[in-house]
Amino acid sequence: MNKTLGDSQSVAAMRNTFVARGVATAHPIIASRAAGAYLWDEAGRKYLDFVGGIGVLNIGHNHPAVVAAVQEQLESFSHVCFQVVAYEPYIRLAARLSELVAPGQGYKSVFLTTGAEAVENAIKIARGYTNRPGVIAFRGGFHGRTLLGMSLTGMSAPYKQNFGPFAPDVYHAPYPNAYHGFTSDDALKALDTIFSTQIQADRVAAIILEPVQGDGGFLAAPPEFMQALRELTTKHGIVLICDEIQTGFGRTGKMFGFQHSDIQPDLITVAKSLAGGLPISGVVGRAEIIDAPTPGGLGGTYGGNPLACAAANAVLDIFECENLLERSREIGEKLRAGLEALKEKHVEMGEIRQIGAMVAVEFVTDAQTKAPDSALVQRVLDAAREEGLLVIKCGVDRNVVRFLSPLNISEQDISDALGMFGRALKSLKA
Ligand code: PLP
Repeated sequence: MNKTLGDSQSVAAMRNTFVARGVATAHPIIASRAAGAYLWDEAGRKYLDFVGGIGVLNIGHNHPAVVAAVQEQLESFSHVCFQVVAYEPYIRLAARLSELVAPGQGYKSVFLTTGAEAVENAIKIARGYTNRPGVIAFRGGFHGRTLLGMSLTGMSAPYKQNFGPFAPDVYHAPYPNAYHGFTSDDALKALDTIFSTQIQADRVAAIILEPVQGDGGFLAAPPEFMQALRELTTKHGIVLICDEIQTGFGRTGKMFGFQHSDIQPDLITVAKSLAGGLPISGVVGRAEIIDAPTPGGLGGTYGGNPLACAAANAVLDIFECENLLERSREIGEKLRAGLEALKEKHVEMGEIRQIGAMVAVEFVTDAQTKAPDSALVQRVLDAAREEGLLVIKCGVDRNVVRFLSPLNISEQDISDALGMFGRALKSLKA
């Protein structure tokens, strides 16, 4: 077999012949290289990448500090397995996350490889600690594609399809959504109903939620809702898990999404932007909870791989040197202002949501009924790509466009992205 497959057309054709169709690809282009906020396809066309491997590249593609850290680690060793021999980059990363998540409180970590695995482990830990079976997750939440991950996920197609039976003892509560008139109070009442009709609170091991639902449409849980959840979980001895896989590492303008609500979760899951593109995930949590499993109960051959730990430590160094949290807020505000200006000309832009650099537009067929316009969103994504901007969709109805730019992006690139998005919207009306 040749080392490369030839021109981009033949690669695209072979993709359909040899790659399972269940692995969808949002944009029909073949990547050839990437740097910072840009990605080039095989034909040499340059795109502004506002997807970043789905929220993985808060510091952009191929950050030189990450590349150097991985190269240096590669020269020492690439894998020994932490369950066999410990290594410093893993331990240092755990110490740093402890200080970032809960300064001075002695939180501990376990590292895995994917986000779904981190979620699985967080639930294992919560069940092991409480000795209870139940888990409450939220409608519209996304927690991964493994059996427990998809069972926790609160979206049917395409994640659950006919993949059941699902893991038992998982219950879904509605998540607040101000735009559609569902308040924090409504959501709290619904939780009470779950306790009275489906599972008693003292049989619930964990409540897991994303502080801002990512795949569910960039919906932020109001602080009062997070605070009420914290109170309720403490009262009933339930472990509160924040899934920070998409919201972590500055994406919301704070290091973690839960920090907007002034609460302290018991466990958090991290992945994606932790390591600038290298695969690593983790659970960070209160020592007495995370230490419930006995030695051997947690881990995985590749969990906390040394190259990924080196990359993650480099990412945290970058956060220490560059003011990315402030930048995240500035980026979000600039994007929001640009999108608000576009909304004046485009009534189909129903709501613009922004928290830090997490920015999204919900497209509707009618501003009054707020009925989802998912067909339009697909056309918007295609038109934006034609203009040179890569974005993807989200939302239970797939009618939301999400913007996930690097946090070290230039002002010019943000302006360019807004220009491209505006031209894309206009082109659909021509
Ligand atoms: N949890 C959240 C909040 C996510 O956004 C994702 C991925 O999009 C996952 C879990 C699953 O992560 P992975 O795809 O790495 O398994």
